Amino acid sequence: MLNQTDMRGINIDRLMQEIDEYAQYGMNEQKGVTRPSFSAEDIKVRKKFVGELEEMGLEVTIDGAGNIWGKKKGTGKKKGTIVVGSHLDSVPNGGKFDGPLGTLMAKELLVTLEEQQIELDHDVEIVSFTAEESNDFNLSTFGSRSFTGKLDIDELRTAEDSAGTKLTDALVSVGGSLDAYPKMYETHKDKKAFIELHIEQGKRLEEKNIPVAAVDRIAGVYRNKITITGEANHSGTTTMGNRIDALTAAAEMILSVERVCREHQEDVVGTVGKADVSPNAMNIVPGKVEFTIEIRGKSDSEAFRQVIDSVLTACNQTAADRGVSMDQEIIIDQDPILLDKGMADILTRSAANVNESCMTLTSMAVHDAAHMASVTKSVMLFVKSIDGKSHCPEEYSTTEDIAAAGKVLLNALQLTDETLN
Ligand SMILES: [Zn+2]
Repeated sequence: MLNQTDMRGINIDRLMQEIDEYAQYGMNEQKGVTRPSFSAEDIKVRKKFVGELEEMGLEVTIDGAGNIWGKKKGTGKKKGTIVVGSHLDSVPNGGKFDGPLGTLMAKELLVTLEEQQIELDHDVEIVSFTAEESNDFNLSTFGSRSFTGKLDIDELRTAEDSAGTKLTDALVSVGGSLDAYPKMYETHKDKKAFIELHIEQGKRLEEKNIPVAAVDRIAGVYRNKITITGEANHSGTTTMGNRIDALTAAAEMILSVERVCREHQEDVVGTVGKADVSPNAMNIVPGKVEFTIEIRGKSDSEAFRQVIDSVLTACNQTAADRGVSMDQEIIIDQDPILLDKGMADILTRSAANVNESCMTLTSMAVHDAAHMASVTKSVMLFVKSIDGKSHCPEEYSTTEDIAAAGKVLLNALQLTDETLN
């Protein structure tokens, strides 16, 4: 039986050294990491990773989506596997922690189990998901969405990147194949839980000076491309009363996005990050504006819907008041996703067991754990990000906080093993 005296952690020095080693693959002069999935650097890092898993004596498989799995057998008293992992790909000029932290921690945990002769009844499995980050195929969280059956195989068959490379060829280069997708789905029933360690990518933990958080839900994401059409006209001869200015209408709508989201500040963020003005000339009243509204919200689906509705109502009102037309193209509309409450409780209890403070957070970004939630008990542990920075070379988490996360996870693996049937 696990108790509070079992507080031995992972080998933090070894883990930090590995994170540095892996960051060399795709590192530029600014110390940023550029390692998109299917790139030459990604293929090199996969080879290294697979080699190391094999050296550890794990049963290594690469599934249809090129996700890398490495299984350590348990006693067999309990069926199925507890999965730990994240991803190894990066955004362009990204940091060294987003992804590799969770993947290499999984490896460190399995090595530690072996070294400390901790035997689990379940099998424990590492996973590194393919193409978690936004990529040239326009398929972020590709590996986990593929694994959980959320992507249409026929559509994938014709997918190409901007250079015309076929996804099917890219997959072959990492050991995957669309033909192997059905076989991949057959393994769902073996996965009893999924735990993903990730950097927070925000400042909430830093503000409270807490090293880790159990993540019990993923914020909803809504993206809508709005096209405002007014009337382009001469900026000198068109009187103020005779204008149908698409840009001033858009400006009012953009401020509505900010206003509505500020009114719900704890729960929701809204961004207009992209706008195109047409004809975009100094002496022409703008005739057309395209902009994107992105809203992310954590509360329940109903509250999230209310924010979206309020934003759209305000925009429609502006369109009516100003006589412009407004067209919408919804790009993403995903409700908040609940992760497994029982698993989040296990992480919280584990943190208490190893004397680390821990809070509960919503993830404001989508991760592989969000998709894994549709096939297994999925949960995340966040580790504090310094200055909230991520997707940039300055992305950083302290050794001390990562060590705390390691202790929590080592305990959580054992608690999960005990708790699940
Ligand atoms: Zn990530």
